[in-house]
Amino acid sequence: MCEQYQRALKHFLRCPVSVDDSQALDLAIETVGSAKDEVLTHQLIDFLMGEADGIPKDAKYLFRLYMALNQYREAARTAVIIAREEQIAGNYRNGHDVLFSMCRELHKQKIKIPAEMANNLMILHSYILVKMHVKKGDHLKGARMLIRVANNISKFPSHVVPILTSTVIECHRSGLRNSSFSYAAMLMRPEYRNKIDAKYKKKIEAIVRKPDKSEQDETTSPCPYCKTELEDTELTCHDCKNSIPFCIVTGRHMIKDNWTVCPECDFPALYSEFKTLLEDDEICPMCSERIKPGSLKKIENVKPYLSPEETEEQ
Ligand SMILES: [Zn+2]
Ligand SMILES: [Zn+2]
Repeated sequence: MCEQYQRALKHFLRCPVSVDDSQALDLAIETVGSAKDEVLTHQLIDFLMGEADGIPKDAKYLFRLYMALNQYREAARTAVIIAREEQIAGNYRNGHDVLFSMCRELHKQKIKIPAEMANNLMILHSYILVKMHVKKGDHLKGARMLIRVANNISKFPSHVVPILTSTVIECHRSGLRNSSFSYAAMLMRPEYRNKIDAKYKKKIEAIVRKPDKSEQDETTSPCPYCKTELEDTELTCHDCKNSIPFCIVTGRHMIKDNWTVCPECDFPALYSEFKTLLEDDEICPMCSERIKPGSLKKIENVKPYLSPEETEEQ
């Protein structure tokens, strides 16, 4: 409080660090944030990395430190690491929320969101959408999102077999028989086979034994950059090579003349889909804020939301 930052930091770093939350570390971060002194900053970073006592501290402290110092790029890098750890541990909602708040912060600071961060958020969000669609009984939408998640299954190491199992079941149910067959075949690998829930084992084995490869092509809609027709859940245009923003309600690529954004978090959604969703559940699937159905506005000029591919500045 009397601006003797060096002494304050010394004392804070002497306090025992508890596993869950350390008030002393939060105060140390606040101290360094106010001091704006490079030596003190490095001293705290060394401490957080475990250079002093051989014990690296939870990455969330490093993230908070960078935020306190307004070093958003470093904070973003740390957020990606924290989210990855949450994801590996199977805490998908936490990983999602860390990435979401970071994207929001970067957006506020007008800093371009790193591609890896945007992509990880998209995959975690797709996983969250699966639950939402299946609960509503929209199995085809759920199946499409499960296919996306299953194609990134290495990012979900704690739940490989349950996710692949749901993919087989939901695809089968919604008539995507060929996809159902391919993921069922994947589940027959020796490392997965014995871990399949007994409830589904017979059904999955039957799907593999009698391959039914009928499957309707996915419906298409135009790329918002170049108007090429793309499958609804395709997020990279094969023609103009741009990556297309995804709809936070369906996970599909955005369409120019059906565009809205969440009034709270500013993430894009297909206008008609968001409107329908809010009729029975007034919660935004991205930011979890309550949204009044009347507050959605169709956006005519979508240019500010489209950023054609450019080389990323570091
Ligand atoms: Zn295109
Ligand atoms: Zn929102």
